Amino acid sequence: MLVMMKSGYTDRDAKRVIDKVESAGGLAQRRKLQGQNLLVLTGCPRSLERELNRLPGVDSVRVPTGGHWLVTRQWRPQDTVVEVAGAKIGGANPPIIMAGPCAVESRDQLLRIAEKVSDAGASLMRGGAFKPRSSPYSFQGMQEEGLALLAEARERFGIAVVSELRDVNTLDLFLDYEIDVIQVGARNMQNFEILRCVGRAGRPVLLKRGPANTIEEWLNAAEYILLEGNSQVMLCERGIVAPRGAETRYLFDIAAIPIVREHSHLPVIADPSHAAGDRRWVPAMAQSAVAAGANGLLVEVHDAAEEALCDGPQSLSPESLEQLLADLKRRGYLDSPVEHHVSSILQLVGNNC
Ligand code: PEP
Ligand code: MN
Repeated sequence: MLVMMKSGYTDRDAKRVIDKVESAGGLAQRRKLQGQNLLVLTGCPRSLERELNRLPGVDSVRVPTGGHWLVTRQWRPQDTVVEVAGAKIGGANPPIIMAGPCAVESRDQLLRIAEKVSDAGASLMRGGAFKPRSSPYSFQGMQEEGLALLAEARERFGIAVVSELRDVNTLDLFLDYEIDVIQVGARNMQNFEILRCVGRAGRPVLLKRGPANTIEEWLNAAEYILLEGNSQVMLCERGIVAPRGAETRYLFDIAAIPIVREHSHLPVIADPSHAAGDRRWVPAMAQSAVAAGANGLLVEVHDAAEEALCDGPQSLSPESLEQLLADLKRRGYLDSPVEHHVSSILQLVGNNC
């Protein structure tokens, strides 16, 4: 539950709430989130709601339906715009592109690809330094050296960088190397310590959806981050578990994009690369995601995909990335979402007449 306090509430008012919650076996923590003073209650019986509502200094008590509240449009009706090194992501801003290799593999590889993706018009470059791999024998990433190379690429080409945090113990390294966006991978979507720690870090976060998780669980995961005071969160749809024998690596849940945008003020990014698992399907999936309202794309790009140490088959060549961006532009999909939605509707109307 969340207890919203009135603007002129006193410490005694807060103490009264805390005592009441603690005597019922719960825990209450004071927070100031987006200008609102509130108490976050955990393990508190619902039956206390009415009593708490009547206490002095209390404005209202919220029982988050579905387990989340701060991520919803009831808490914040207007879109959240995440700002990364001058790029604005979300709201009426045109969709942005994050592109780059699955993993940082060497200095030469990263700088070569960084130049190409930045020339193509990407706002951010991706590159994993700590790779979550299904097999312990697979390449695990260049670790700290990988972060240092990302920082070098950022300096050299003026492009912001995004990389995955696999373990809370390495967060300080991400901050030291000034990684612009911290990615929480699909496998860690419900690693609650990671969620809390990126919430406290106050850096923009890219939160991937777990392949077996519902939209509600995904929003609950984002709620953990917002509760720590960090609302610079982007949700990333990357495909959910596909039926056995499916042609794609995961099943791209395109409906999740408008559904999340309807319920939540947070920007939604689409990752067609991991969903497809095969570069042939990536451009069409990327275009459909933007047409469905995605605020950005995360696309894997490699200039020697046959030799990639991770996710080569789903990586576009830099030339295919350029082609994809040209196609998106031609369709008006890189204009503001409002404009491109209007033009898609006009096209549909035109086609049906
Ligand atoms: C990645 O972005 O390279 C990655 C491992 O993605 P996911 O967590 O979606 O599998
Ligand atoms: Mn990958």
